[in-house]
Amino acid sequence: MARKLPKKDVVIIGLGWTGSLLAHELTDAGLDVVAIERGPWRDTSTDFSPTQDPDELRYGIRLDLFLRPAQETFTLRHNVAQQALPIRWPGAFIVGNGVGGAGVHWNGHTWRFLETDFTLKSHLTQRYGASALPEDMQIEDWGVTYADLEPYYDKFEYIAGTSGRAGNIQGKMQAGGNPFEGPRTRDYPLPPLKDTAPTALFAKTASEMGYHAFPRPASNASEAYVNPLGIAMGPCTYCGFCERFGCGNYSKASPQANVLPVLMRKSNFSVRTECEVLHINKHPGGNVATGVTFVDSSGEEWDQPADIVLVCAYGLHNVRMMLLSGIGQPYDPKTGEGVVGRNYAYQSAGAAGLLFEGKRFNPFVGAGSLGQCIDDFNGDNFDHAGLGFVGGASITTSNYHGRPIAMSATRAPGTPAWGSAWKKQVASTYQNTSAVAGQGSVYSYRDKYLDLDPVYKDRFGRPLLRMTFDWHENEKKMTRFIAQKCAEIGKAMGAKHVTPRSLPDHFNVVPYQSTHNTGGAIMGDNPKRSAVNRYLQSWDAHNVFVIGASAFPQNAGYNPTGTVGALALWAADAIRNQYLKNPGPLVQA
Ligand SMILES: Cc1cc2nc3c(=O)[nH]c(=O)nc-3n(C[C@H](O)[C@H](O)[C@H](O)COP(=O)(O)OP(=O)(O)OC[C@H]3O[C@@H](n4cnc5c(N)ncnc54)[C@H](O)[C@@H]3O)c2cc1C
Ligand code: SF4
Repeated sequence: MARKLPKKDVVIIGLGWTGSLLAHELTDAGLDVVAIERGPWRDTSTDFSPTQDPDELRYGIRLDLFLRPAQETFTLRHNVAQQALPIRWPGAFIVGNGVGGAGVHWNGHTWRFLETDFTLKSHLTQRYGASALPEDMQIEDWGVTYADLEPYYDKFEYIAGTSGRAGNIQGKMQAGGNPFEGPRTRDYPLPPLKDTAPTALFAKTASEMGYHAFPRPASNASEAYVNPLGIAMGPCTYCGFCERFGCGNYSKASPQANVLPVLMRKSNFSVRTECEVLHINKHPGGNVATGVTFVDSSGEEWDQPADIVLVCAYGLHNVRMMLLSGIGQPYDPKTGEGVVGRNYAYQSAGAAGLLFEGKRFNPFVGAGSLGQCIDDFNGDNFDHAGLGFVGGASITTSNYHGRPIAMSATRAPGTPAWGSAWKKQVASTYQNTSAVAGQGSVYSYRDKYLDLDPVYKDRFGRPLLRMTFDWHENEKKMTRFIAQKCAEIGKAMGAKHVTPRSLPDHFNVVPYQSTHNTGGAIMGDNPKRSAVNRYLQSWDAHNVFVIGASAFPQNAGYNPTGTVGALALWAADAIRNQYLKNPGPLVQA
């Protein structure tokens, strides 16, 4: 029997990026907020000290900061005919755990999606006709537009101290920025990071080929900065131990560096760490949540009653929480009915590995988001007529790390995988390796979805989340096209060996690809096809808001967190200025 705690105005499940942003906004509105976080407390000075941080084995390989499979994992199958099996070690994606969530060890690429990404179904149908889309493709418009979200993108970039160069300020095109981006109110808060040899070579080559190179928007501070909350960031030292590591320098945006120093001082905020929410509780007579039940580190169960429940547990965990709590009808791929679990998508990678001769790239001088990009082949920025696919990718040469263990895997063709010849080759390839890589869209399909596994359970006896996912022909064709473009640029950059890479026949959970899992509790304007409305409010329980990439109806050719942050701030605004005045559905079904 769970012990009951005093009621709060708001309970937040998970204190990562979305949880911290919402907690800050709602405590500012005077609400009493508690966050329940299943991982440990972590802070910059105690946990990401520059003297312990650059330990590649501990953080990069053994994944010290990440969710352990013994706590929770997922099962995977490629199609409904297969038996799903548990993922026993994080591979393709590596999920966060602990205060700050994956916001601690992300890179910091901070993108805005394209205007047409938000109206994808209408846009593609209008431009190419409905018959150009595969029959089982299940893409949707989002129910919000880029213009709706623009002020919230801006707000997130200023909280995060994003470094970049604007391409379009209030409709006026800016030299050296991304000409394909939607209009922004103002420039980035900080100028771009400095280029290194490979990124400068990419920018020069791509521009000579007629493409539009621009610096990747990076939440790694290019200069000292004080954000609108009054929190100071130090300039990035290009230490290169960024992705998979905390930043000991207060330079990479994270909940710890950019929100928590203010949030933790508020008397109307508290956090319970090492406490895992088991499920959301509902009022017996209706579709309103009454709070959550969680278990603490000693195994004791507690009920936390609250007027509003915010599900901020990361996209995949958000979906599982909805399914475990019976909020929203589970999706059934046979009938196409139900909404929770619908439209799971991911990120695709078409790329070209590059090996040069006689370079000294010094890859150890890098930053999490340092890169030069082109968007000429992203989204619908290019004519897809006759190509046989839709979608695209942002294409980049990055310099985000020179980690020796990870880089020792790169070998020139014909080099043995061990011995003295291998050692010699590692020393040479370390200085001569680069890549041109696409971060590609993945659209949603009727047969790719999330549900509860009928066999495998977690340590509390709750079903694991089952993923039914594989690559579709559309994404395979698209990444082959992108890999070809990457290879052309790589050749023009002067690489001696150029190795194009596109998607394998089947999704492989072993090699790392990206922790950009999207969908499953998607937003939209139709409760039969979406789990949450345009304010990320559950159609089924009006005091439950589900915040994160779970809301994306399909995934775009960018990293998600700029859009996740904008959606969190957009939802917070709706709760503050609409819901609190008149609690109930913000959109009538
Ligand atoms: C290595 C890596 C690099 C990345 N790089 C980029 C990048 O460059 N750009 C980009 O856009 N995105 C990047 N991402 C993705 C980015 O980190 C996420 O999009 C972002 O952190 C999502 O925010 P969130 O609040 O939804 O989830 P998180 O930040 O992960 O926070 C969720 C929190 O909920 C907690 N939680 C989960 N379940 C429960 C439960 N049952 N009870 C209590 N607490 C719970 C978790 O412990 C976690 O702290 C990267 C991710 C990884 C792993
Ligand atoms: S590269 Fe910069 S932002 Fe990243 S961890 Fe190092 S100092 Fe921090």
